[in-house]
Amino acid sequence: MIAHSEDGADDRDRDGMLVTRRALIGGVVGAGLLSVGASVQNVAMADELSAAGPEFKSGGHAAFRADAPQVYTRSQWNARSPKRPAKVRGKAPDRIVIHHTATANSSDRSLGHAFALSRKIQKWHMDSNGWDDAGQQLTISRGGIVMEGRNKSLKAIRANDLAVGAHVLHHNDHTIGIENEGTYTKKQVPSRLWDSLVETCVWLCRSYDLDPSEAIVGHRDYNNTACPGDRLYARLPELRRSVAARMDGPSSSDNATGGQEAPIFPPFDGFG
Ligand SMILES: [Zn+2]
Repeated sequence: MIAHSEDGADDRDRDGMLVTRRALIGGVVGAGLLSVGASVQNVAMADELSAAGPEFKSGGHAAFRADAPQVYTRSQWNARSPKRPAKVRGKAPDRIVIHHTATANSSDRSLGHAFALSRKIQKWHMDSNGWDDAGQQLTISRGGIVMEGRNKSLKAIRANDLAVGAHVLHHNDHTIGIENEGTYTKKQVPSRLWDSLVETCVWLCRSYDLDPSEAIVGHRDYNNTACPGDRLYARLPELRRSVAARMDGPSSSDNATGGQEAPIFPPFDGFG
């Protein structure tokens, strides 16, 4: 959940370090290093991208390793500038915190909806909570669209580093947060969101050399909150197993025959 005003405490706590960090960082780091064209996952999304304008049509030179999911950058969803640049920790995170946004369970899977969600969350965090920027590093829509959240997050992941967010009170300095669109207290997680969440966790665990059985936690494991909802929280053991299985198996780039269509993850069949 993204509404906890106390999560911003770390935003304020670190203000005293900003002058030093600014001097070290040396200015704003450009977003948008990823190009989209090379890794568009389906035709529908490609159509949406084409309709979105020429900036989305540039040819592919994906900066991430082949196993990484496609992550839409802040410039693509038209993020506002942060009030202050994110603190970069100089060290990898050791936990991946799973959240739900506690917003409506929208049936709109479009890119436009996903981008609007990111803008809404950023506005909420900056204007209502008074934070520097969106609190979470990554956001996944119910359509499975993965987006950068807090500024510098993608650059930091590529550098095996952490752009410190504001998503889990007292633990922002060692965790990376994924906001999953929806409210999963009673509803099931859509398969497209789930698949992207697995892909994203595989990418993060590989990038940071994390053991998914230890690294993947729910927000409620740290704070007094219902987040990420009973349904999603109940699937975290499955998420850990699925991510571990993918990390142990051949990478998607090694197995790029296009024939791997069978579902890797069994459908959710209730609490077990
Ligand atoms: Zn949360």
